[in-house]
Order: sequence, then C-alpha cells, then structure tokens
Amino acid sequence: MIDCPICNDGKKHRGIIIKKRESEDRVIMEVECEDCRERGTVKVFKFGGVEVYDF
Ligand SMILES: [Zn+2]
Repeated sequence: MIDCPICNDGKKHRGIIIKKRESEDRVIMEVECEDCRERGTVKVFKFGGVEVYDF
C-alpha cells in the first residue's frame, strides 16, 4: 500500500509493483497506483522506514 502523492487524499492506495530493486540499505520500487494509474518510484530506506515518493 502506498501514500499516492497524485491522489493526495491521505489514504493508502493499492499499488501494482512493476519493478523492484533492493540493495543493502534501501528498496526501490516502480509502482502504478490502481486508483489514478500514475506511475512513479517509491524508495524505502530500511533503517528508519522512511518512504520517499517520486511521481
Ligand atoms: Zn493515485
């Protein structure tokens, strides 16, 4: 589930994972929001659990 910055309604949206890359300290996923159909990337930093959205 993602906090879609395009929908931007404070709700979690279902995201389809198109691609996923993982390194030692982060996970980078290319996702498509099921509601607005926008694609973007989500970076999740494993230490601290910070999610960065780039749509
Ligand atoms: Zn969306």
